Amino acid sequence: MSYSQQLKDRYAKALMGNYGLPPVAIREGEGRTVTDVDGNTYLDMIGGIAVSSLGHDHPALVEAVAGQAARLAHTSNLFLHEKEVELAEKLLELWGHPGRVFLCNSGTEANEAALKLALLHGNALGRTRIVATENGFHGRSLGALSITGKAAIREPFEPLGRDVVFVPYGDADALKAAVDDSVAAVFLEPTQGETGVVPSPPGYLEAARELTTASNALLVLDEIQSGFGRTGAWFAHHAEGIVPDVVTLAKGLGGGVPIGAVLATEEAAALFTKGVHGSTFGGNPIACAASLAVIDTIEREHLFANVLALGEHLDARLAADPRVTEVRGQALWRGINLAEPVAAEVVGHLIGLGVLANAPRPDTVRIAPPLTITRPELDAFCDKLIEALDAIVPHPSPRPPAPLRDASPRTGGAAPHGAPHPGGRP
Ligand SMILES: *Cc1c(COP(=O)(O)O)cnc(C)c1O
Repeated sequence: MSYSQQLKDRYAKALMGNYGLPPVAIREGEGRTVTDVDGNTYLDMIGGIAVSSLGHDHPALVEAVAGQAARLAHTSNLFLHEKEVELAEKLLELWGHPGRVFLCNSGTEANEAALKLALLHGNALGRTRIVATENGFHGRSLGALSITGKAAIREPFEPLGRDVVFVPYGDADALKAAVDDSVAAVFLEPTQGETGVVPSPPGYLEAARELTTASNALLVLDEIQSGFGRTGAWFAHHAEGIVPDVVTLAKGLGGGVPIGAVLATEEAAALFTKGVHGSTFGGNPIACAASLAVIDTIEREHLFANVLALGEHLDARLAADPRVTEVRGQALWRGINLAEPVAAEVVGHLIGLGVLANAPRPDTVRIAPPLTITRPELDAFCDKLIEALDAIVPHPSPRPPAPLRDASPRTGGAAPHGAPHPGGRP
């Protein structure tokens, strides 16, 4: 029996079944390639779900983590350290607005903190309602889950005891109807990641900003997946020219080291007075050093320009394939929509061809590779994807006339069709 199979058997006995049985047992990674415990290599096109921004084993990240671990691994929040101050200052500089930062350890924790800000804001005004979006994803802890629109993952835990209204995503009129003076906050993703990389239509975030300003509700943008380079920018909302009250970050922020962050305007941040929130590990020196290394490397290696240029190349490569109906998203954060609901089979077949990707819903293959990916690697992915489609959808039907395939920032939105996949990570 292969070592992969042995590990899978042990995994199945020792770990809980909430992820099912993962298909690949990874031993190590280098650049955009990971190697499993039997020595098979794979091109990593999913980057640990939009996390491994610098790829694997990047010297800058290794040096930052090892060096920081050797100096100071932990302080708790009883004491401060240099790296958390540097990182908070840097995040505000990248955001481009005066404000404050709260550091935590994951996406769901960032949203919990944002939800607490929203509740404090609402309590001061006598409001309890939160508006969030259908099919949205904000995390698995109970607060973040209560505003998560994906019913299949939320409903088993109901009642969650919160006054939440879900509106159809991307529909400014529905938002307008929902946002009145009973609303404490609106939570939105600039692009819905877990639903298959579904961007909001142009003007949607701007409308959300106008509506929340008019009703004195907080606008909270969940940029946990969309932020930190996925769209070829630090923040997806920068393209819309708006300033939300609160932004949450995680995933790519640490390049693989767990870290989350909440950025808030001075006014919203003032709600967090002494004692209202905290985290033992939040702002951990190793995580902060990792994040500073990610930021520095993105800047030094011009990685946004890299993924923006390669995003155009991807569009060109897939444009002629009749089995691909749409390529949503920006840069190299993409939902590749298939004419048939065979995304899971395609992703399974790709593993056999040495490529890791993900199927967030039956008709969508999602990619979110390291920002360091090269053009030959992207070409190899396109070749393998086409090979997988050849194996699974061998007789392409004639392509309908020139579908809209606009991948420029914030304009790739098209109505999702098909139900989102209920299970799967995260
Ligand atoms: C992944 C994700 C989360 C949850 O982050 P975790 O680190 O898994 O808790 C929240 N919101 C969005 C948009 C995400 O993509």
